[in-house]
Amino acid sequence: MASQEKNLSKCQLATEAVHAGEMHDPSGAHVAPIHQTSTYVFENSAAIESWGSGESGAYVYSRVDNPNRASLAKKLAALEGYGFEGPEQVTAELFASGMGAVSAAVLGLTSAGDHAIAQLALYGSTDHLFTDILPRYQISSSRVPLLDPELLEAELIAHPNTKVVFLESPANPTMTIVDIARTSEIAHAHGAKVVVDNTFATPVLQRPLILGADVVVHSTTKYINGHGTVIGGAIVSADADFMENGGGSLIRYIGAVPSPMDCWLTNIGLKTLPLRMREHCANARILAEYLEAHPKVEKAHWPGLESHPQHELAVRQMDDFGAMISFELGGYEAATKFMDGLEICSLAVSLGNVDTLVQHPASMTHRLVSAEDKAASGITEGMLRISVGIEDAQDILADLDGALAQV
Ligand SMILES: *Cc1c(COP(=O)(O)O)cnc(C)c1O
Repeated sequence: MASQEKNLSKCQLATEAVHAGEMHDPSGAHVAPIHQTSTYVFENSAAIESWGSGESGAYVYSRVDNPNRASLAKKLAALEGYGFEGPEQVTAELFASGMGAVSAAVLGLTSAGDHAIAQLALYGSTDHLFTDILPRYQISSSRVPLLDPELLEAELIAHPNTKVVFLESPANPTMTIVDIARTSEIAHAHGAKVVVDNTFATPVLQRPLILGADVVVHSTTKYINGHGTVIGGAIVSADADFMENGGGSLIRYIGAVPSPMDCWLTNIGLKTLPLRMREHCANARILAEYLEAHPKVEKAHWPGLESHPQHELAVRQMDDFGAMISFELGGYEAATKFMDGLEICSLAVSLGNVDTLVQHPASMTHRLVSAEDKAASGITEGMLRISVGIEDAQDILADLDGALAQV
């Protein structure tokens, strides 16, 4: 693969999204080919020596790295590291799923005897990791709603062995916001690292490394890929030791590697992320304002609404408010009537695709969560979540309007 990368040091985020990590193949192919191979050939023993002594970089085996993965990693690192100034460079490592990345980030920062603190509202499988998997390896954990500064401080004092503070913002499905800069200050003062799941916001709307976080994780399955074709994940950090010897290195040893084809598809999707997020966010504003004003809607949750309890924090921390909305109807029966009345929007879990997806957390993503925990994190029987797509806003609005008329 030709190594002629473009100098993008003076370019804006949208230009980075298109060009970062792209290299033209020696064949002259404009778009990089899919390197569908498990192993790589050395010319001769001198080439092996040159690679072994670190004189030349060479791909050796696809679990360790491959050109499609390297290219996608560079693009994602350029976006999460956009505007980042520090002694070390931001790098990324790709995983076979978002959970592969979340698990590697947490395991890479902890050992037996350590403690982890997390936000209360978490993605379901991340919740399971903290409550059911980590204890089997003698890693304890506790939860602090919204990582409230006073409560977080008290929890860190109570657990001086805390190595990681984990959060999602905005969080699923109630769209609560956590103050990343404040959390990072407090955690660092107590020797803990901060991991932010940036799946809902994406680097286009929020760059946690600049706000002080140590590690960003993604489910690239969602907005990063954007077209619903791949399950994937990523870790991004400017901590070289963590990337080379900690969580980043776990890609090689746990082996949750993404295929060259999946990286290739995700790389194409990521090129249009800034463009898609603009449209996603603009549509979300129209729909959130419509839902908030609708007489059958008891409550609409979107960080861009002034009624959102952390609207001011969202303004400070994010460049726009994202396209995940949740809202509440009277109860389960109203929610089912709404879902069955939709014609254009699809009923499906997952999010961040070009098309609008609607789901009912109580019977879908959070079906296995106990009634008590659902109540604690604000998930009601009448709650619906919308991942707003990039269709024409008026068409989505008409679909929601028709479905609300059935309620
Ligand atoms: C989907 C998701 C995950 C898990 O990602 P997978 O790619 O499904 O493994 C983690 N965090 C958030 C916020 C998600 O939406």
